[in-house]
Amino acid sequence: MKKSIYPYEEWKIRENAFDINMNYRNETIFSLGNGYFGMRGTFEEGYTGPDDTTFNATYINGFYEVYDIKYTEGGYGFPSYGEAMVNVADSKIIKLFIDNEPFDILKGNLILYERVLDMKEGFTERKLLWETETGKRIEIIVRRLISFKRQHLGVIVFLFKPINFSGNVKLISEIDGNINYRNESEDVRVGSNMQGKVMETLESQVNSYLGWIMQSTKRSKLKYVCSFNHEIKTKNQFKFVNYRYENKVGIEFNIDARKGETFELTKYISYYTSRECAEDCIIDEALKEVENAKRIGVDIIFKEQSDYLNEFWADADVVIDGDISLQQGIRYNEFQLLQSVSKNDITNICAKGLTGEGYEGHYFWDSDIYIMPFFLYTKPEIAKNFVMFRYNLLDAARKRAKELGYKGALYPWRTIDGPECSSYFPAGTAQYHINSDIVLSIKKYVEATLDYDFLFKYGAEVVFETARLWISIGSYIPLKNNKFCINCVTGPDEYTALVDNNAYTNYMAQMNLEYAYFVAKEMIKKAPDDYKRISEKISLSDDELEEWNIAAQNMYLPYSAELNIIPQDDSFLYKEKLNVKDLESEKPLLLHRHYLNIYRYQICKQPDVLLLMYLRRELFSIDEIKRNYDYYEPITTHDSSLSPAIFSILANEVGYYEKAYDYFMMTARMDLDDYNGNVKDGIHTACMAGAWSAIINGFGGMMTYPDGLHFMPNIPVGWRLLSYNVKYKNCKLHVDITQDKISFLLIDGAEMRIYLYDEEILLSNGLKVEKEVKKLEEQRY
Ligand code: BGC
Repeated sequence: MKKSIYPYEEWKIRENAFDINMNYRNETIFSLGNGYFGMRGTFEEGYTGPDDTTFNATYINGFYEVYDIKYTEGGYGFPSYGEAMVNVADSKIIKLFIDNEPFDILKGNLILYERVLDMKEGFTERKLLWETETGKRIEIIVRRLISFKRQHLGVIVFLFKPINFSGNVKLISEIDGNINYRNESEDVRVGSNMQGKVMETLESQVNSYLGWIMQSTKRSKLKYVCSFNHEIKTKNQFKFVNYRYENKVGIEFNIDARKGETFELTKYISYYTSRECAEDCIIDEALKEVENAKRIGVDIIFKEQSDYLNEFWADADVVIDGDISLQQGIRYNEFQLLQSVSKNDITNICAKGLTGEGYEGHYFWDSDIYIMPFFLYTKPEIAKNFVMFRYNLLDAARKRAKELGYKGALYPWRTIDGPECSSYFPAGTAQYHINSDIVLSIKKYVEATLDYDFLFKYGAEVVFETARLWISIGSYIPLKNNKFCINCVTGPDEYTALVDNNAYTNYMAQMNLEYAYFVAKEMIKKAPDDYKRISEKISLSDDELEEWNIAAQNMYLPYSAELNIIPQDDSFLYKEKLNVKDLESEKPLLLHRHYLNIYRYQICKQPDVLLLMYLRRELFSIDEIKRNYDYYEPITTHDSSLSPAIFSILANEVGYYEKAYDYFMMTARMDLDDYNGNVKDGIHTACMAGAWSAIINGFGGMMTYPDGLHFMPNIPVGWRLLSYNVKYKNCKLHVDITQDKISFLLIDGAEMRIYLYDEEILLSNGLKVEKEVKKLEEQRY
């Protein structure tokens, strides 16, 4: 286990001293966002430390530039361009000078420094006591908030007080659109393909306290506006001037600062883009936002933030009594997920949230398989955006399928606005399973929300078009007993590529086909008009439905009778095994070995068969899970942060409680404790959501089977209480688990049927039902 970096506190992340070696990492940890835009936790006054200790960035979710993908040996259907989320104008800048000496925490004397992220109130606060080289002391407090309620708004309150002097203090507030890319990373997971200047300024203006800058990306031609407005509270005399350079607007405040007298500058910031707003309205909207914010005032905006979070925690909070480090870890994860997730349906959630450029701001299957459940069972209204987002990309997915010579739709492995952005097809396009991952997410969404309106109007079309893809790429192979085989694919484990009959893919494709058949039949009965509309639109024939059904029934599902396990694919068990224990010095493997020197072994980056067992849990017995767990665990490196959560859940199921706990620790505090040493590049959103699943599905023992919620709780020995809420079929259920008892309380909804160790229980609103927890024996590993 890693040593904790931040003191354990239930609702706060605290940094007690400034440490230059921690700066890069802290910029990620203290990042703020609301799903629409996000800022790394860099300082308002700037930073003069070495380049490799900082990365200043502000991102707007889904705001991207395109770039050419260059292959020296290209091939048919290789994507020719990619999309990358770009760093936009820096609006947080507030520089301070005391008689022309710049405030810089790396110079002078930093007497006190503290920064706190408050996850209940939703803002960061820095408190500093600093002394210039000539001995002038000043107290500075900076609060930063990015509003959840007002998606385009951010606020910075910058307050200073001279302690032992009176004199000239200058504050400079800017929006700086000079974004210059440098790209030095060797790490394939980090890279952004942007270089130099990717944006040009189209217009800018600053007048009195109000200003804005409009920029456009050079190639994607997306536009955005960043605006600011200011408010001053002080008894000091001051003057100000505006200035405007090519890519910059600013205001300089010259203050006749008095000893002991405070000066408070509030800066309202807004971003709007042409992705969600008509081009000729962007400027007006961005200005309206900051003018309105000033009218409302900072107190109300902070109060709204706290109200929003109150509501969020009332639905999503997980209480772990007895382990404060996990309590803090899980809350941090949930908070960051909320900060990262889009609240609209044209964008989604990036692998690194809005905290870094790693993975170029792309959306992966991470969203559908790992992150969706957290929102689905706590904030279903946000989960709806996930499935609508996939619907909105359907045309692009149809185009991609056609390009590859297939019928139906093929979703991109990684994308922002629809096109396949992966330039390495063995671990990109070949991960066809993304299609069925999306369908599973739709299926679970509909089961949990009963939103048939979505299914019949939108979801069904995705389900049908993805089913078609499987028919297109699979075939009945005589030497495999004429079973329906899907060849030349890559499963979730990216250390094995381009294989035949990857078990995960086949099982999930089967689910996709079965569900497509089921939905079509249901619609014919229950929503004939919608069925007619969709089937005409995509020229769907009755024969095709039968084809789906037959392929699903005849799907080749690999099994090894010798080993009594599910082989990852046709060739996997015939390769030499590598043992993870011997690979310590090569972690992560992908940075130490050519892929060819990985693919030829039995070695996994992340769960594949085991993930399948978790996702389609109802198909497998505990014994089967145990046998497969025992086989795959020693050959899994967990080089993907998506890995440990699934191992924790399954370890719990098969009774390896210590392992379940250890894997869980790796996920719950992966970013806070910087487990992989790369949090500086951004958070790991899928891992964070995986931690929630590991608690709820693992220790909380809640499984969501097609017939409802099943519980089999088993909390770690040190925990006194685990409490959580779940939303399911328009009801809200509160669950409390202690070492001996589990209780259910239906908070919203009239009735709900659940299962506890296969006993059926009918819950009624307001009536608490308490039952014994069955003590399970630790299995010897
Ligand atoms: C994992 C993928 C994941 C991607 C983005 C990779 O390291 O292997 O499964 O989708 O990261 O998080």
